[in-house]
Amino acid sequence: MTGLEQVVRRAGLKATRGRLAVLQALEGAPHADAEAIYQTVRQQIPTTSIQSVHNILGDFTRVGLARRIEPAHSPALYERRVGDNHHHLVCRGCGIVHDVDCVVGAAPCLTPSDDHGFQLAEAEVTFWGLCPTCSTRTAGEPG
Ligand SMILES: [Zn+2]
Ligand SMILES: [Zn+2]
Repeated sequence: MTGLEQVVRRAGLKATRGRLAVLQALEGAPHADAEAIYQTVRQQIPTTSIQSVHNILGDFTRVGLARRIEPAHSPALYERRVGDNHHHLVCRGCGIVHDVDCVVGAAPCLTPSDDHGFQLAEAEVTFWGLCPTCSTRTAGEPG
């Protein structure tokens, strides 16, 4: 049994070929969207479909094998790094995403000014800006 198979089975899922291929694609490309994962998986399993990739990503998210993040105006992105309440830096120019470690290391790392009596589980923070490449490229150009 491969390491990937163990990971999938330990999460309570059957280790199908499609699931193993999606997991492998995710390990190689954190913060990939379903379309990018589909393109990778298709090289291994030409008969796969974007719908089955969506289904597998849904299963992974449900059992905690993957985390789904949804930056505004972007398709949902998936990553293997789960459960550590880390945050993201997203470039408005090219869409590149970087992980940012949670400042205090435990969720939730931020305290809202008014928690309305909630028991808080996590805080999801997206920092928006321009990466070094995009800030150089757009310097002086409007828009
Ligand atoms: Zn950029
Ligand atoms: Zn991340």
